[in-house]
Amino acid sequence: MVVDPGSPVQSARVVTDPDVLAAYTEDASHLRGSPEGLVRPDTAEEVAEALREAQGRGIAVTPCGLRSSTTGAGLAPRGWSLSTERLVGVEAIDAERRTAIVRAGTVLREFKDAVEEAGLFYPPDPTSERECAVGGTVACDASGARSYKYGATHRYVRGLEVALPDGSLRWYRRPIIGKDAAGYVGLRDPVRLFCGSEGTLGVVTRVEVDLLLRPEAFSAGLAFFVDVPEALAWVGLARSRESGVDPRCLELLDAAALRIMAAQGSGIGIPAEAGAAVFFEAEHRVGGEMAVMEAFWTLLSDAPGALADDTVIASDHTQQEQLRLLRHAVPATLNEEGRGHHASGGKKISTDWAVPFHHLAPFMKRVDGWLEDARIERVARYGHVGDGHPHYNLIVKDAEEAARAAVVVDRMCSEACALGGTVTAEHGVGKVKRTYAKYRFSDWQIASMKAVKAVFDPTGIMAPGNIWDES
Ligand SMILES: Cc1cc2nc3c(=O)[nH]c(=O)nc-3n(C[C@H](O)[C@H](O)[C@H](O)COP(=O)(O)OP(=O)(O)OC[C@H]3O[C@@H](n4cnc5c(N)ncnc54)[C@H](O)[C@@H]3O)c2cc1C
Repeated sequence: MVVDPGSPVQSARVVTDPDVLAAYTEDASHLRGSPEGLVRPDTAEEVAEALREAQGRGIAVTPCGLRSSTTGAGLAPRGWSLSTERLVGVEAIDAERRTAIVRAGTVLREFKDAVEEAGLFYPPDPTSERECAVGGTVACDASGARSYKYGATHRYVRGLEVALPDGSLRWYRRPIIGKDAAGYVGLRDPVRLFCGSEGTLGVVTRVEVDLLLRPEAFSAGLAFFVDVPEALAWVGLARSRESGVDPRCLELLDAAALRIMAAQGSGIGIPAEAGAAVFFEAEHRVGGEMAVMEAFWTLLSDAPGALADDTVIASDHTQQEQLRLLRHAVPATLNEEGRGHHASGGKKISTDWAVPFHHLAPFMKRVDGWLEDARIERVARYGHVGDGHPHYNLIVKDAEEAARAAVVVDRMCSEACALGGTVTAEHGVGKVKRTYAKYRFSDWQIASMKAVKAVFDPTGIMAPGNIWDES
């Protein structure tokens, strides 16, 4: 493949200044990309034109949004980095049909704010919603805390405008009939193919989504427990039909995560004897917070190992925002900590596996044993346990500890899949988790995905190295 990003034909549009390119060599993973050129189109037509040119000249193109990927998916190993940062703006919100059209580079939180101003609601809520673009969330099929109730991004994507490597610009729309028995189910809906495609098929330029009515109000709570098993047992109770509560998220924070939160110096009291906490949210009518929180209180007061009297309730926006920032401090602090060990070959290793909820508590017990045996000392566990999806963050100090941790992570992924789970529930495979993809996909599934890619991207220029190794 010949790469000539600096040719006169492209000099006006492709940036090759190393100082500018430097920013596009990093994302939230510990990997580094090596883009040889940067394209920042202003319009969908310009995206299509850049792809046509790249295909004609055999130049690889890796799309990126705001590079918050934890898997190196938005990093170009060669060729061009195509940033959607200039494709911004909410183009339409149709309150009657409850739909919206947004350009792919728009910051997710900004889009959600516009939707909420119109009295509507767009549920996907990755913790990084202020740091990622709508197109990136489609390409990774992002979810977040509230996916416990609302599911991942693909549930809300109604249509996509996509630029393909042949230079065409197409709209794909979801089938709008309730029954359709034609052909293979995975291929009936091209929109679904692009959700989670990690830049390997084309560039999403506009996204049309379905919206919900904005919930009237919600309250949040932080319930403390003596340890993780007690917290998980309570999550099991809260999930059950008989619980009397209807949470929209159920998120674990272990002792290490709680220590990070306590160090932020907020006014939120974290009891010294707490070895775990569960963050929850529930929606209600205006004025309905007392009844809803009482139901949670009842469930907590009977639960073994719950420190019910210490439960923190946040019913107003300021307190809710304070809790959100505290939770966000956990991954952000651990990222920084991992970065601090780069010089000695250390880093943060983050898992994204999920298992069916009924397997979660025994599986986490086994995982904790493997980590102890491997002498991995700095471990934090937090995240979406309501969905059987905790993130384990391992901070390893040097290359030797990193190698020991890698063996355990491999085992986690293999055994999670054996239990009917996945190696990545929301961050995608990218470049970091390619090695585990073999546990999730059989050979025929990889071959089928490659065949689909060959239809959209026959010369293989799109996002090389994402999902599977180049070969
Ligand atoms: C602190 C932190 C917390 C996070 N929390 C969550 C969470 O709770 N839930 C969650 O799901 N994720 C989370 N993430 C991961 C990340 O934010 C998401 O994966 C997000 O969807 C990536 O969006 P982005 O715009 O940053 O995409 P990028 O990182 O720039 O790119 C990600 C992938 O999408 C592709 N891509 C980007 N834009 C396009 C496009 N327009 N067309 C085609 N392909 C495209 C890229 O090629 C790449 O494969 C978190 C990350 C961080 C750093």
